[in-house]
Amino acid sequence: MNRRQLTAFIGAGSNIGNKARNLQEALDMLAKLPQTSVVQASGVYHSEPLGLNDQEWFYNAVIEMHTALSPDALLSSCQKIETDMGRPAEHAKWGPRIIDLDVLLYDDLTCCLEHLTIPHPELPNRKFALLPMLDLANPVHPVLGKTMKELLETCPDRSAIERCNHLFLKIP
Ligand code: AMP
Repeated sequence: MNRRQLTAFIGAGSNIGNKARNLQEALDMLAKLPQTSVVQASGVYHSEPLGLNDQEWFYNAVIEMHTALSPDALLSSCQKIETDMGRPAEHAKWGPRIIDLDVLLYDDLTCCLEHLTIPHPELPNRKFALLPMLDLANPVHPVLGKTMKELLETCPDRSAIERCNHLFLKIP
């Protein structure tokens, strides 16, 4: 039996190599996942790294998809894309990365397992997730009961971020 397709938002970030190309490659790979289609992609944002300052700024974007993959299967697929793109299994928590894919929201599902928390626990604290998400939609956070716009208003993140108006991700 086919599962119903639900809307998920994936946060993508890169700060090694050709960062815009890395985001596009990750989007292309997400679009090839089974039972999944990419609906739209946000603008690309240039953001100051949090935590460890001695590294390049990130390019960040959010991708909206429809998927019948379970949250677990979606996380595993994101991790496989990270590995296939050359991200080493061991990496510093705040360190540089060729690609980082986070499951930010999965419909209105909430889950808190050891390896998977949905919504992503850092979503309310990161402008580089909230701002691109708002290019696409303004969903209500299923735990906090606030829209993404409301979360942005109270977001404690004071790091710099700017939209790169010359960069666009293409939906394949
Ligand atoms: P990161 O270094 O940001 O890529 O963190 C990856 C770790 O976060 C992995 O061990 C995941 O199992 C865990 N994790 C928990 N919840 C999520 C989520 N919603 N999206 C992505 N990774 C998650």
